[in-house]
Amino acid sequence: MSNKSDYYELLGVERNADEAQLKSAYRKLAMKYHPDRNPDDKEAEAKFKEINEAYEVLSDAEKRRLYDQFGHAGVNQNGGAGAGFGGFEGFGGFEDIINEMFGGGFGFGSSSRGRNSARKGKDIRVDLTLEFEEAAFGKKQTIEYLRTEDCDVCHGAGNEPGTDTHKCSACNGTGEIRYSQRSLFGESISVKPCPTCKGKGETFDQACHQCKGHGIIKKRFSKEIDIPAGVFHGAQMQLRGEGDLGQNGGPRGDVIIVLRVKPHKHFTRDGNDIYYDLWITYPQAVLGAEVMVPTLDGKAKFTIPEGTPSGKQFKLKGKGIPVLNGYGRGDQYVKINVEIPTKLNKKQKEALMQFDIELTGIKTSTADSEEDTNSKPNTKGKKGNDKKFFDKLKDNFS
Ligand SMILES: [Zn+2]
Ligand SMILES: [Zn+2]
Repeated sequence: MSNKSDYYELLGVERNADEAQLKSAYRKLAMKYHPDRNPDDKEAEAKFKEINEAYEVLSDAEKRRLYDQFGHAGVNQNGGAGAGFGGFEGFGGFEDIINEMFGGGFGFGSSSRGRNSARKGKDIRVDLTLEFEEAAFGKKQTIEYLRTEDCDVCHGAGNEPGTDTHKCSACNGTGEIRYSQRSLFGESISVKPCPTCKGKGETFDQACHQCKGHGIIKKRFSKEIDIPAGVFHGAQMQLRGEGDLGQNGGPRGDVIIVLRVKPHKHFTRDGNDIYYDLWITYPQAVLGAEVMVPTLDGKAKFTIPEGTPSGKQFKLKGKGIPVLNGYGRGDQYVKINVEIPTKLNKKQKEALMQFDIELTGIKTSTADSEEDTNSKPNTKGKKGNDKKFFDKLKDNFS
């Protein structure tokens, strides 16, 4: 009825193979097709099942005799492994083989590792806030954080110095406990640190007063670091091997410094360029002026050209942020904003009215009829006889 493969062929052995030959053949194949080594491989999984089934039958003298005589029907009929592939009851040897094969830390069935595997310590995050200028030009900064150290009272042992220690009875001093679980593939063994001695292999009468028996303590640690010029908000710096202690000889974790940069009262930043909003008066825009503007290097003289419109941007080359890990600097942009005065005295208002009359007066005779019929000031900048007005304006405002 079945199109099952022959058990001997499956294991690749002769029909007269002895126990040692069977075991050796099985071990090789089980290693090869083990699900731990072939994750998500359905074919390997199926093959692994078949191999186990074959070995279960052939390694049992009575089942093998029935199989030899009746084939698959013989062992199925006998309540053998054919159908269910369930328990491995009475299937001596399997666990031994598994232990031989995977006992050395391979972690059969479960990914938990024994206490002996070296593990890197935990990473520690440190948030660091910088002034805008500090981010721009870099600085030396001392950072402080808590990290684990061996306890300096018991030197990692966990017991109060001078008190007795005993071999842990729960794990017999090995520091690890083996758990066996039944699963689809039979017995699986996982190894976990002993909960009684926390993997140390020893228990003690009196725990160290400083570390409460853990052998490690959290200690404040400080370190001077160099923050390079040009770092930006959200940038991360990694200090390798400055984090928490590793386990079983593993290296320390890292420190991840997350940088925050405070906003500046004058500048906004875009990449390595900075932007500055310069507010000027209407006369300054019209007449031009010399003013002082802030830069990252201190105040600098800046010339507003005559007739500068609001919104115009000027570039101060090389006055931006230094390029991170590179050469040169970005630029500073000065954006012109013309203030419209809201509180004018009578004299100033009169001067502006006079200005308007002088500007529009030129146009009145020609434009009056075809354009604006209600006499709103015509502010469309026409070049007229400006000179006289500006002299007045200067007198009023300066
Ligand atoms: Zn201690
Ligand atoms: Zn223990």
